[in-house]
Amino acid sequence: MFEELKEYLKNSYSPYSNFKVSSCLVTKNNKKYFGVNVENASYGASICAERVAITKALSEGEKKEDFKEIHILGSTSNTMPCFICRQTFAEFFDENVKIYIYDTEGNYEKYSMNELCPYPFSLGDIL
Ligand SMILES: [Zn+2]
Repeated sequence: MFEELKEYLKNSYSPYSNFKVSSCLVTKNNKKYFGVNVENASYGASICAERVAITKALSEGEKKEDFKEIHILGSTSNTMPCFICRQTFAEFFDENVKIYIYDTEGNYEKYSMNELCPYPFSLGDIL
């Protein structure tokens, strides 16, 4: 997985920050959906690698119930997902989905949803 993530870093479109991120959403039947960060001159129009991977999987017909894990590699070590991504995790990941965060050497830490998103905003908050 690390080697694939490293290869995908090359596809990052990050001319403004030069901060590259790749991500891979893996389903329960081990299909992989990769994403990279895509920046924009209008910074708010940028999208993170994690959300590209998730939306790519959804676009291809995957269901959130089939999401198993997500892997994240940044061009700096131990890149943690931003809180917009964590909100997206809360929308599409159940408590069993694991989040793997790599350093630039290929070592990783594994997090649970509860660790990264302990108090998610969800459908129950707007009903
Ligand atoms: Zn993000």
